[in-house]
Amino acid sequence: MDQTRSSAAEEAAVAIVGFGTAGVNAAIGLRNAGYDGPIRAFSDAGPQPCSPIMTSYYVGGGRERQECFPWSAEALADLGVELVGDGRCPVAALDLEARLVRTERGDFPYSKCVIATGARPVGAPFPVEGGYEPLVLRTLGDAERMRAAFAAPTCRRVLVSGASMVALKCVEAALERGLAVTMVGMAEHVLDTCALPVAAERFERGLEASGVELRLGQVVSSVEARGEGASPRLEVRFSDGSAEGFDEVVVAHGVRPALGFLAPGALEADRGLLVDGFMRTSDPDVYAAGDVAQALELVSGERRVLGIWKTAALQGAVAGAAIAAELAGREPDAAGAYPGAVMSNTIAVKGTLFISGGESAAVEGRVVEVREDDAMTVACIFDQGADGARRLVGYNVVADADEPGGVAYDTGAMLGLRLEAGCRP
Ligand SMILES: Cc1cc2nc3c(=O)[nH]c(=O)nc-3n(C[C@H](O)[C@H](O)[C@H](O)COP(=O)(O)OP(=O)(O)OC[C@H]3O[C@@H](n4cnc5c(N)ncnc54)[C@H](O)[C@@H]3O)c2cc1C
Repeated sequence: MDQTRSSAAEEAAVAIVGFGTAGVNAAIGLRNAGYDGPIRAFSDAGPQPCSPIMTSYYVGGGRERQECFPWSAEALADLGVELVGDGRCPVAALDLEARLVRTERGDFPYSKCVIATGARPVGAPFPVEGGYEPLVLRTLGDAERMRAAFAAPTCRRVLVSGASMVALKCVEAALERGLAVTMVGMAEHVLDTCALPVAAERFERGLEASGVELRLGQVVSSVEARGEGASPRLEVRFSDGSAEGFDEVVVAHGVRPALGFLAPGALEADRGLLVDGFMRTSDPDVYAAGDVAQALELVSGERRVLGIWKTAALQGAVAGAAIAAELAGREPDAAGAYPGAVMSNTIAVKGTLFISGGESAAVEGRVVEVREDDAMTVACIFDQGADGARRLVGYNVVADADEPGGVAYDTGAMLGLRLEAGCRP
């Protein structure tokens, strides 16, 4: 069937741009709220949406490829969504004036549009020479490339540049593949955006005990491919003047919302698209959800991009329900508004567990309490008011063993509940 369309021939549908967890949940939200009109989704990821969360386990060999797809073909078919080009139709531009989604397959009119294109890794900030392209991890395509690279018999030593959650997931995957791993990070500690130094230090001891070489407080200056057949094949220079050979380099320096199809300034934006409680952007017909959206974060009371799977899902569902109400001529139900969320992270690398929630900066006016024993470090950050009253605003839990259902997980869950409770009026 010819999938090329022209705007004149098309019926205006609800358009979902990007069909990951936020996009799929927007469709679920629409249908659950009674919308039975056309929904048209645009994706560049193929017919079945993939979960970025599963990619590192697939790279490490702990999960099969099919486990990266959270929704079955049947569950997706039940939603009655037209997936343009069977999921191979990247959006090139969104024309807000003409209310058109522009693609290589034609232009598609929309009544309402949800932007749910997630994020893409930022590139290497250092020169890479000799035709080598560092590995990144977000999509299934990225994971397939990394998996093949790690599994190659010539691959023995991997450098991971960056010390974030995604960087650590790549470290874990490389360790699972039996590779020697070095991690280089600009800050003095790993996880510097979510861990206090006392917690990060314990986590670092766990990494080192698993054989990870840490180069903290320094950066990569350059990467050069040494030529066909050389072993190791990459020459990496560091900011301290030293050089080492590696077979692969992973760059995990954070992500940026995938919004290249939007004209600059077209919608109100900061780090992501600014949205209200119903995920509406500054254009009344355009919504945003997931890693592109900057929505209410409860501890700070500010709008932030959180980069959390379940938050993206909830935001998608809220957008879908709000659109269904508006298309039916009703105001969206206040009870269904996005309640906000707190930042949270959980990661285990070879048995060392890290859990965090809320803020991690011990700035003026904050008090940090630390409890440590042989098995675990728990650090809590409190805002202290002038009257001496304390409110929990963040926590870290680091345990030397990753025991599902164990004390560390219980402690993290309890602190998470306390943190959220303290955010409610
Ligand atoms: C390695 C890794 C591990 C993670 N682990 C966790 C975890 O343990 N827990 C957690 O809560 N979160 C985790 N996350 C974050 C989580 O995956 C994201 O917060 C979540 O996927 C966001 O959902 P989304 O729908 O906004 O974006 P995505 O899931 O990225 O979906 C967006 C989709 O839009 C597509 N797209 C982009 N541009 C276009 C375009 N122009 N046209 C059409 N389609 C487009 C993308 O290809 C993608 O398919 C992890 C992320 C990574 C990378």
